[in-house]
Amino acid sequence: MILKPREVPAELKTLRLLRPRMPLPDEQRYLYLEKGFKGEQQLDAWLEDLTTDCFVINDLLLNQNRNFFQIDKMLILQETIYLLESKYSKGDFFIVDDKWKAMSGIEIQDPRLQLKRSETLLRKLLHQHRLNFPVESTLVFTHSEFYLYNAPPQLPAVFPNQIHRFLETLNRLDSKMTHKHNKLAEKLLALHVHDNPHTQFPDYNYHELKKGVVCANCRSFMADKGVNWACAKCEYEEDNKTAIMRSIEEYKCLFPDRKITTNNIYDWCGMTSSKKKINRILTNNFTRVGHGNASYYVD
Ligand SMILES: [Zn+2]
Repeated sequence: MILKPREVPAELKTLRLLRPRMPLPDEQRYLYLEKGFKGEQQLDAWLEDLTTDCFVINDLLLNQNRNFFQIDKMLILQETIYLLESKYSKGDFFIVDDKWKAMSGIEIQDPRLQLKRSETLLRKLLHQHRLNFPVESTLVFTHSEFYLYNAPPQLPAVFPNQIHRFLETLNRLDSKMTHKHNKLAEKLLALHVHDNPHTQFPDYNYHELKKGVVCANCRSFMADKGVNWACAKCEYEEDNKTAIMRSIEEYKCLFPDRKITTNNIYDWCGMTSSKKKINRILTNNFTRVGHGNASYYVD
């Protein structure tokens, strides 16, 4: 039972919306977040066939004495809490003298350290709240093109070709969720930190962003064809209502303080044809506040 589904992280969501409309200050950061999210989605997909009675909590952000730690995926089973950390690295790596290196010889961050840190902090947190559960943590390498030479067998890791057996092992465990587990899950969900302190939103302002309707499929700009919108790059087409409502959602997400007015949305969608189209969509889908030029729309 999934108690907390995975959502696109707020920072990634914002960057995805901004990217077609302005040069991002840190493209690498964006690519890093996309990569991480893709790995987590792969982890979710692999664990879809989990049939044992358990609770699943995704993207849990906790704070133990001002030490923030994120858990990609937590499985609460009858006897044990499992922490799964997704690593979406691609390529060949090896361990020498306890150091992780890429084939080029460049040392990479040892993924065990972060895992160990989360595990330790979670133990402290549970202890503090008098919740007594053993914790086990595992790295899950989620990229199919990852290979680690001379991996020690005791490494707490699951490689892509082991995931099926890992899942089978979990499914074979006798597990039953009881009041005790409900209490644990409720406590952890209540402790979840909503505003990630590591989130870095770039500076942006309305006037500097490129206006238009962005393709839902390839994120290029679409052309207003009168009856619908069309993407020249991927040939994706959308009717007026869907395209404009989607653009309003993007506008609301990027500018929660700006008013939804016919003129604002007309400008945001970069339109040159009639404003009536916008007016009709706003009237049919939102509640109008005020009259005349000062009127605006709310959900
Ligand atoms: Zn497209």
